[in-house]
Amino acid sequence: MGFHNGNGSSGKTRAALPPDVLAAIAARVAVLTDASAGPTACHRWLGSMHPRACGWPRVHFAGRSWSVRQLQWLIAHGTLPARVYRTCDGEPSCVNQRHMTLENPRKKPPQPPRPPRWQKKLSVRRVKNLRRARAHGVRVVEMARRHNVDESTISRALRGETWKWVT
Ligand SMILES: [Zn+2]
Repeated sequence: MGFHNGNGSSGKTRAALPPDVLAAIAARVAVLTDASAGPTACHRWLGSMHPRACGWPRVHFAGRSWSVRQLQWLIAHGTLPARVYRTCDGEPSCVNQRHMTLENPRKKPPQPPRPPRWQKKLSVRRVKNLRRARAHGVRVVEMARRHNVDESTISRALRGETWKWVT
């Protein structure tokens, strides 16, 4: 065989399928795809699934097992990605190209930076804790460090200039 599949982690395209082979695979995939629910709905895969807990649709062709989603991406975009993710929550065997992405949807978005410590606010519970801590001799600077609240904010609360109603 003059081609091989990218099965590694680099994400690089390693497939160079001859057009006639690609057309044959596309035809095979089309036969095994139930797209009767419409172009935007989930397309059920009628072929076999990889026998893992969260198995993916697969098809046997040219002596090996292929991920149908990877193949479909190849058919649609001309490149064979290392991994294709499903964006829909419905049909587990869905092979609709419109429900596929190369971005891992479960990857956490970058977290916003923590607010500077002076932005941290006190709460009734915190003020009560602070006043109890002071009664036990805890210093303001230590409270500020522990609660990530500005020292002057804590001092005002302890003196009763703020949070007067908290007893
Ligand atoms: Zn779907």
